[in-house]
Amino acid sequence: MTLPLDSGALAARFESVFGASPAGVWQAPGRVNLIGEHTDYNEGFVLPFAIDRTARVAVRLRPDSTIRLLSTFGNQGLTTADADALSRDTARGWTKYPLGVLWALQERGLQAGGLDLLLDSDVPRGAGLSSSHAIECAVITAVNELAGAGLDARDMVLATQRAENDFVGAPTGIMDQSASLRGAAGHALFLDCRDQGSRLVPFDAESAGLVTLVIDTRVSHSHASGGYAERHASCELGAGALGVRALRDVGLADLEEASGLLDPVTFRRVRHVVTENDRVLQTVQLLEGSGPGAIGPLLDASHASMRDDFEISCPELDLAVEVSRSAGAVGARMTGGGFGGSAIALTPVAAEQQVRAAVGQAFRRAGYPAPDIFAVRPAAGAMRLA
Ligand code: ADP
Ligand code: MG
Repeated sequence: MTLPLDSGALAARFESVFGASPAGVWQAPGRVNLIGEHTDYNEGFVLPFAIDRTARVAVRLRPDSTIRLLSTFGNQGLTTADADALSRDTARGWTKYPLGVLWALQERGLQAGGLDLLLDSDVPRGAGLSSSHAIECAVITAVNELAGAGLDARDMVLATQRAENDFVGAPTGIMDQSASLRGAAGHALFLDCRDQGSRLVPFDAESAGLVTLVIDTRVSHSHASGGYAERHASCELGAGALGVRALRDVGLADLEEASGLLDPVTFRRVRHVVTENDRVLQTVQLLEGSGPGAIGPLLDASHASMRDDFEISCPELDLAVEVSRSAGAVGARMTGGGFGGSAIALTPVAAEQQVRAAVGQAFRRAGYPAPDIFAVRPAAGAMRLA
């Protein structure tokens, strides 16, 4: 992987491309979800943290309506668009994310006009770490400030959700952008997806002698299609049959009765969401009490629930989780929407090399492409760099 450009280098590159200096440089992180999967659109609880991998944007507003966009990734060249004629049908590739944000702002009545934007990101793409929201959150933080829009985090969360749902076409919730916008170093974000209520919870793995390893299986996932939307639909079906507004309103004690009211598949989908919400609450309690070393069994139980009840894992994710655990991780689970992407393994620093080697070897033996394994730490949310 090439090293990310620092803000000075990014501004210099911007100037050589656009012939003027940027008004500033902003960054927003990707995220790892510690626990709470597919609970967000059920108005439940999630516990993600912002990671030390970020999208950075150098931006200046223009006096006309021209938009010029360039990423340091790939050789895609400059994309030009017109702020007065944004269209989800003609936007292509990564430019859907910044253009979607500008479109969502316009839908709220904010005309920022044209801009020049250069993106550099070291958030792995399509690995379940939300490289797309990192871009959107960096862009909205920049434009909010430059255009003096005065949006707070709550507004920006909703605007980026609108961008993903209605411009990009991915039916995602509010977790990823909340983590990216509200995250803080050494903490995870306990988020109630019903009302955006949130609280930072200490997650200082480092001080506890632990490291969070991300194991990117390189099995590509796509939220815009298939399984994700199908699971979403199952949850709505379950909530309807149980007569509640959302599965958030079903408790552990209701599961026995629910089993008699739902078909077996819908029941298992519901059971995942209900037990996962409870695991999030338990994890928060443990982090605020005993600390990160105590949450391993909850991570393991979350994975089992996603594998067996929600059926969103895949053989590569299951292997990564099992092998990490037997090589010394205190807990491991797939993270993100599923069907590929990444697993996380909360690992004692002393066992890190062992876990990395064991997972690599197991993938070789199984004939899978080599996974990308790297450590992440809970880091700051979106901010201005320069
Ligand atoms: P995830 O958000 O889990 O990483 P998505 O499919 O939602 O996966 O978003 C990945 C997309 O984000 C990529 O296909 C690409 O369009 C865009 N993207 C991410 N990082 C960059 C980058 N540095 N340059 C250009 N596009 C990027
Ligand atoms: Mg995404």
